[in-house]
Amino acid sequence: MRPLKINDRFLQELPADPERTQSRRQVKEACYSYATPRIPENPTLVHTSKEAAELIGLTEVDLTSKDFLDIFSGTKKIEGTDPYAMCYGGHQFGHWAGQLGDGRAINIGEVEHEGKTWALQLKGSGETPYSRTADGLAVLRSSVREHLCSEAMYHLGVPTTRSLSLVATGDQVMRDMMYDGNAAYEKGAVVCRMAPAFIRFGNFEILASRGDVENLRKLADFTIKHFYPEIKLGTTDAYIEFIREVSRRTLAMIMDWQRVGFVHGVMNTDNMSILGLTIDYGPYGWLEGYEPGWTPNTTDRQNKRYQYGQQAQMAHWNLYHLGNALYPLVEAAEPLEAVLDEFRQNYAIEYPAMMRRKLGLALIEKEDWHLIQQLEETLQLTETDMTIFFRLLGSFSTKKISDNKSYFLELIQPAFYQLDELTPEVKQKWNDWATQYTHRLSRETRTAEARHAAMNAANPKYVLRNYMAQLAIDDANQGNYDLIEELYQLLKQPYAEQPDAEKWFAKRPEWARHKVGCSMLSCSS
Ligand code: AMP
Ligand code: MG
Repeated sequence: MRPLKINDRFLQELPADPERTQSRRQVKEACYSYATPRIPENPTLVHTSKEAAELIGLTEVDLTSKDFLDIFSGTKKIEGTDPYAMCYGGHQFGHWAGQLGDGRAINIGEVEHEGKTWALQLKGSGETPYSRTADGLAVLRSSVREHLCSEAMYHLGVPTTRSLSLVATGDQVMRDMMYDGNAAYEKGAVVCRMAPAFIRFGNFEILASRGDVENLRKLADFTIKHFYPEIKLGTTDAYIEFIREVSRRTLAMIMDWQRVGFVHGVMNTDNMSILGLTIDYGPYGWLEGYEPGWTPNTTDRQNKRYQYGQQAQMAHWNLYHLGNALYPLVEAAEPLEAVLDEFRQNYAIEYPAMMRRKLGLALIEKEDWHLIQQLEETLQLTETDMTIFFRLLGSFSTKKISDNKSYFLELIQPAFYQLDELTPEVKQKWNDWATQYTHRLSRETRTAEARHAAMNAANPKYVLRNYMAQLAIDDANQGNYDLIEELYQLLKQPYAEQPDAEKWFAKRPEWARHKVGCSMLSCSS
C-alpha cells in the first residue's frame, strides 16, 4: 500500500492527556488520550468503499494489500503518527451524562490528500480510557449497518461521515441484543470511518462543564481555524458566528434527513457533529410507512424523543446546549439566543422549501403550507410508504387526472400497505388532495418532464430499508458478503432508475414488520 501523508493537526495543536495507560478514568484538561487499537484474532476484509478510498489517494490495488488489512484492522499503526481517543461529554436523552468520550473509537491518523485532510477512525477496536463499563468492541451486525448507511447517505447527498472499510475481526463479542437477558456471542468487526473531523457538540460541553475555559477556547479556535476558515478569529463575534454556522449546517443536514426519511435514533449531543455531518450510525432507521411519531430505537420507545417528526426540534435543543457550552467565550446570552431564534425562523422557511422540492414546485406560494399539511395528514390515514409515494408522484400527470377520476389512486396504489384500509373516506381525501395539487401545478411554468426530473433528484428511488440491511447482515453472519456489495452498488445511485434492481423498489415485506433489526433496534451494538 502506498504511504499515507500525515497531517495530524488534532494531535499537534490540542492538549493531550499526559497519562498513557488505557485505564478508565476522568480525563481533565485534555482533548484526547493516546490509545492503542487491539490486535484482532483473525482479521478478514469484508468490504471496502472505493469512493472513500480515492479521497485519501488509495486505489483498488492498495485495498487488497496486506498493509491495508493490517492498518484498517488495527493490527499495525500508520507510520509517523499515534492513535488516540477523543474526550467528550454529552446530554443523553435530555440529561447531562458527564464524560463519555471515544469508548470504542480510536483515531488512527489524520491524512492529507489533494489539499484535504481526513481523520481516520477505527470503530470497535478495543478499550480506551473512555470505555467506562463496556468492552470497546463492535459486532458485525452494527458494523454492516454503519458501513452501508454511511456510504448510502453520501450518495443521497446527505452530509455524513464516510466509511472506508469493514473488517471482520475473527473475535467473538458478547451482546444482549434486545437487553432482555439473552446475551450471546456475535462476530466482531471494525469499521474505518472518515471525516474532516470527528469533533462533536460534546467535546465542547465536557470542557465547559469542568470550567476549563482555556481549553474550550483552544478547541473552538482550532475548529474555526480548520473547518470554518471564513470566520475571522480574534473577537467574541467569532464564536457567535461559529455557532450560527454550526446551526445552519445542522439544519441543512436535518432537512436532508427529513427529505429522505432517515431517522437517526440517538440524537444525543455526543452524537452531533460540529461540522453538521450525520455521525454515529446506531439504531437508525428509514421510514417505511409515513409516520412522524416513528423511531426505530427501542431504548427510546416510551418517550420517542428522537422520532422522525421531532428531529429538527431535537437539533435545536442540542444547539441550545452547544450555546451554553460556548457561553464562557461569548459572555452574553442575547446573541446566542438570537442564533437559536434564527434556527427556528430558518426552519420555517427550509421545511416548506424541502417539501416543495419533493412536490416538484418551483414557485413559492404562500398557501403551499396548506397543500403540504393536507398531504402529511392524508399520508397518515393509512400505512403509506414514503419513498414509493414520492417517487411515484413524480410521474403525476395533470392531463390524465382530468380524463380519469381514479387515475391518482391507481398511480400511488403501490405505496399502500393494506388496500383494505382505503375506505371511501380515505379515497375521497386523496382525490381532494390530488385536485388541490393539480390546481397548484397548473400555475407552475416548468414542463411536466422538467418537473419529473427535478422530483426524481429530490425523491430517492432506493434507500437502505431496514430489512435490506438485515438481509445483508444475516448473510454476512454466514460468511457471505455478496449482498453487502450488491446493496452498496445499488445505493451508489439512489436517484437513478435501475431496471435490474426493481425488487428493491418495493414495500417492506410482511415478515419484516416486527422482526428485530428491521423495525426494532436497540443501542446494543
Ligand atoms: P452511543 O450512544 O452509541 O453513541 O455511545 C455513547 C457512549 O458510549 C460513547 O461514549 C461510546 O463511545 C460509548 N460506547 C458505546 N458502545 C461502547 C462499547 N461497546 N464499548 C465502550 N464504549 C462504548
Ligand atoms: Mg456515539
